[in-house]
Order: sequence, then structure tokens, then C-alpha cells
Amino acid sequence: MSVTNFYSLSVPGLKEFLQGLGKEQFRAQQLYKWVYEKRVQDPEQMLNLSKDFRAELKGKVSFDLPAMTQHLKSLDGTQKFLFQLKDGLTVESVLIPSEERLTLCISSEVGCNMACKFCYTGKQKLKRRLTADEIVGQFILVEDVIKAQEQKVSNLVFMGMGEPLDNCEAVFNSIEILTNDFGRNISRRKITVSTSGLIPEMWRVTASRTRLAVSLNGYDEASRSELMPINKKYSLAALLDECLKYTQATGDRVTFEYVLLKGLTDQVEHARQLWQAVRRVPCKINIIPFNEHPGSIYERPSDATIERFHSELGRLGAHVLMRRTMGRDIFAACGQLTSEFENKPRNMDISNSKIGGVARV
Ligand code: SF4
Repeated sequence: MSVTNFYSLSVPGLKEFLQGLGKEQFRAQQLYKWVYEKRVQDPEQMLNLSKDFRAELKGKVSFDLPAMTQHLKSLDGTQKFLFQLKDGLTVESVLIPSEERLTLCISSEVGCNMACKFCYTGKQKLKRRLTADEIVGQFILVEDVIKAQEQKVSNLVFMGMGEPLDNCEAVFNSIEILTNDFGRNISRRKITVSTSGLIPEMWRVTASRTRLAVSLNGYDEASRSELMPINKKYSLAALLDECLKYTQATGDRVTFEYVLLKGLTDQVEHARQLWQAVRRVPCKINIIPFNEHPGSIYERPSDATIERFHSELGRLGAHVLMRRTMGRDIFAACGQLTSEFENKPRNMDISNSKIGGVARV
């Protein structure tokens, strides 16, 4: 008998599932409320369902989630979570506090085929794509932990391990699940999907009414092709055309992520070329000083160089943000999370790793 994971079902998917069991459609809303609002996973406790239905659910639906095996807290407040999936593979999520937000960055794949040269995840090759329940599971489990701290995730970004648009079905299904009124009801405006530039799938971000971030990293075709092999297939010019379409369809700006690599992408002249390339697209530019990771051939620029780059973009009229270095080594651009906790950042305070009752293993 096949068992369906509840966390993989959007409301329309759940309605279809219930129809197969001969149940009424409104049961979907009841179940969503139990699971996402009240966090009840045992059908026996869903008391507004008949006894027979509860018994039937037990045999046909599972509420399995990944296992949270580690939880680290950085001195700057960033929290990092390691999840073990059923097949033993692992992915990470990172929770990043800022003045008004608590942003959760989640993974969509184990490894990644895009092979961006500066990215740690890209070195691991794609092992497999996550299912929707594994994506939703990261969110739910982190919220269960931070509930004890009386906190809630305010923003969700698909910038963890993997290229989200290489796993569209699960990613956009998980967005439908998490945004549903009867479920977690997170606003679509608070969700950002990041891509390295898979142009044929970018329309899905527009259709999902979420925000678009593009991992740009090059200031012209050659520099981007050097760092991101995808640029050889989908050029920077074509990517920017697609971004423009997004802004016209949604009225939103695109966020361009730009990693500063010492000597390669961090010069004032590069800032000028970058602005020249992107200025036709309503955008914000998020500059991210490179976080060095084990085995990386790139270096982080000096603070003075970073400041010069930042100021030049500002002087040219760009809306430019600089990502503070938070939970250093755990978060940058699209991807860059490690699946190896032994490479934990030097400034992480693992003594605090039992927050929410999750022990470091
Ligand atoms: S930066 Fe993103 S798309 Fe590129 S290899 Fe890393 S995870 Fe993949």
C-alpha cells in the first residue's frame, strides 16, 4: 500500500488525494489547520475527524520529516541547521536575523550541477533533488525549534544548496504549501527564489508571484562565463532580458547577487562595467564579499577594496546593499552552504547547540 507524505501535498493535491478516499473537499482545510497551525501530526488527535477517517489516514499518510541532526548558533545570532534525509544524505538551512527580519535560507538540492567556481556546493555535484516534503520540512522543523525562543520566520529565501530552478516541481509545490491561507500562510512577497540563470524556468518565479534574485557575479560576459559555466549556455545579455521581463510583469525589482573576489571582480572598473550592464533592469545589487571555504582558490578582498566597490556603485546611482558577514562561511550568494559540519565556521558557538532541544550529534 502506498503511503503519501502529507508535507508534499498542496491544498489542491490534498483535495485530489481525499477525493480518491471518497472524502469531502473541506477536509483538506481541516487537515492543513491541524498540521500547519496546531502542529499536530498524529491523526488520533485530530478530533473533528471521524474515528474511521483517522484510522484510514494513519495507514495512508505519513508525516515524516527529515531529522535535524545538528543545530549551531553563531555569535552574531545566525543559526545553522543540518538535516539528514531518509537516504542518509544531508542538507543545511541557515537562519539569519536582521533588524526587522528573521530570514530562513533553505536548500533545494543535495549538491548542484551548476558548478559555479566560487561555490562550495557546486563542488559536490548534484546527488539528488529534494522532494517538496523535504523542502517544507526544513521550514517546519526550524520553526518548531525557534518557537521556544518565541520567534517565527519572517522571510524565506531559496538560496541554500542547489539551483532552485533545477528542481521546479518540488520548489514551487513547497511554495504553494507554505503560502496557503490554511497552512503556514507565509506571504509570497516574503519569499525569494534565487537562480544562477536558468532562463527557460524563470517564468515560474513570475507565475508564483515571489521575488527573484539572480546570482550574477560577473561584470561582463567573459567574467561571468569564467565563474559560472551556465553563462556559456545562457548569456548575460539574455539573462538580463529575462530579468527585465520579470520586472515588467511584476512591478518588482530584481536582486542581483554579486560576489566580490579579490583581484577578479572587485575593482572600481568592474563596478562601472557591472552598472553599465545591469542599469537597464530595475534592480538592487547585493554585494557579497567572498567567504573563503576549505580548498577555495579565491580570496576575500580587503575592506578598503570592498568599500571602494560599494561606493562606486552608489556614486553611479545603483541601489546597492552590502551583505554583512553573518555566520561567516555559511551563507553567500546562491548556494555556498556546506554539507560538512566539520567545516564549521570558526566563529560558531557550538556550546549553544541545544537550543530548542536539538542536540549536536
Ligand atoms: S552558486 Fe548556486 S547554482 Fe552555483 S553551484 Fe552553487 S548552489 Fe549551484
